[in-house]
Amino acid sequence: MSLVNEHFLKLPNNYLFADIAKKVNVFKVTHPKAEVLSLGIGDVTQPLCPAVTEAMHRAVDEMGSMAGFHGYGPEQGYDFLREAILKNDFLPRGIHLDIDEIFINDGAKSDTGNIQELIRWDNSIGVTDPIYPVYIDSNVMIGRAGTLDSQQKRWSNVVYMPCTAENGFVPQIPKDCHVDVIYLCYPNNPTGTVITKQELRKWVNYALKNDTLIFYDAAYQAYIQDDDIPHSIYEIRGARKCAIEFHSYSKTAGFTGVRCGYTIVPKDLTAATLEGERIPLNPLWNRRQCTKFNGTSYISQRAAEAIYTPEGKEQVKATINYYMQNAHIMLETLQRIGFEVYGGKNAPYIWMKTPNGCGSWQFFEQLLYGANVVCTPGVGFGPSGEGYVRFTAFGSHETTEKALRRIEKWTNK
Ligand SMILES: *Cc1c(COP(=O)(O)O)cnc(C)c1O
Repeated sequence: MSLVNEHFLKLPNNYLFADIAKKVNVFKVTHPKAEVLSLGIGDVTQPLCPAVTEAMHRAVDEMGSMAGFHGYGPEQGYDFLREAILKNDFLPRGIHLDIDEIFINDGAKSDTGNIQELIRWDNSIGVTDPIYPVYIDSNVMIGRAGTLDSQQKRWSNVVYMPCTAENGFVPQIPKDCHVDVIYLCYPNNPTGTVITKQELRKWVNYALKNDTLIFYDAAYQAYIQDDDIPHSIYEIRGARKCAIEFHSYSKTAGFTGVRCGYTIVPKDLTAATLEGERIPLNPLWNRRQCTKFNGTSYISQRAAEAIYTPEGKEQVKATINYYMQNAHIMLETLQRIGFEVYGGKNAPYIWMKTPNGCGSWQFFEQLLYGANVVCTPGVGFGPSGEGYVRFTAFGSHETTEKALRRIEKWTNK
């Protein structure tokens, strides 16, 4: 008899974006004339920049020629891209990495989900709350998260570190319990908030002192505008001994449909056996990748390389500026109307407190029926997201401005 991995059955089967789509659909069916505008979308909308598409065209032509054909590439990624990453994303920040500390991936979702294979099933995990659902769900699937409480809100073996307006969205370092592995994501999805170097240093020091591993998701680092906000955890001394970092070209350069990113596993990083022997994680991750991953496509890696050319850099920046203009006007308008809003300065997300203690889903429906605008209920990202909604800056200027005008009109009623 084949037995199923029953940990999968613990996952609540309601999926946030499916629930939203269902509710929007009900509205559309009952209000066929209404035009619904979405500020809830989590995907980018602007096309790839010319530097990238030109590089892809060239790579396609190579692949169609005898001399330029590429079959299986290195599981760790091509050196041309790994070198471009070293030279552009790290050296200018004073971070020295070895090329074999960089693993090219097919997007950060896969690796942020897969990385937990490196650690024993009985490690405790800590997450900031609200949070990108992949971190917890990937631990649930393997049995590490424990059981879901009766209100279906918290997992028994997960330590939740609330990020709310009350603490300025600065998570409190766990004091009463030991946490073996901590997931951090900055700039943050969903709250759009960032971490200062000083705060991040506290986490690194905690990790070094308590033998805690940090999984650091830097998927939105390209959106950072302020000079003193860290783009990488390795800007903090000692992080090489305690942190793995994930990058993605999805939000940086519109690669959500192209698929490419990278993961840094420093050679100084170790975890212990039960006997106390320290095992380096870099060779383990390499072994894992060689067994389960056959590399990101050559065409995608050439596309990513093009982002680091002078034209590529300029074009990618222009698109990021486009989205950040949306974020700016959203922040300004919502604030002027009188809402309490956060994020949006170094990230493409606005995190808004619902007025009058309204629940996330309740406000979602009010906004949908009152202004025909879609947002994302904050509680979908974790218990501390209750009473908030997320707006994204990934729409067009036109849609964003139109949606804001509608929200203003609706609130003035
Ligand atoms: C979008 C996103 C990613 C990147 O996903 P890809 O698989 O690279 O497309 C990673 N982490 C967070 C928090 C994200 O929002």
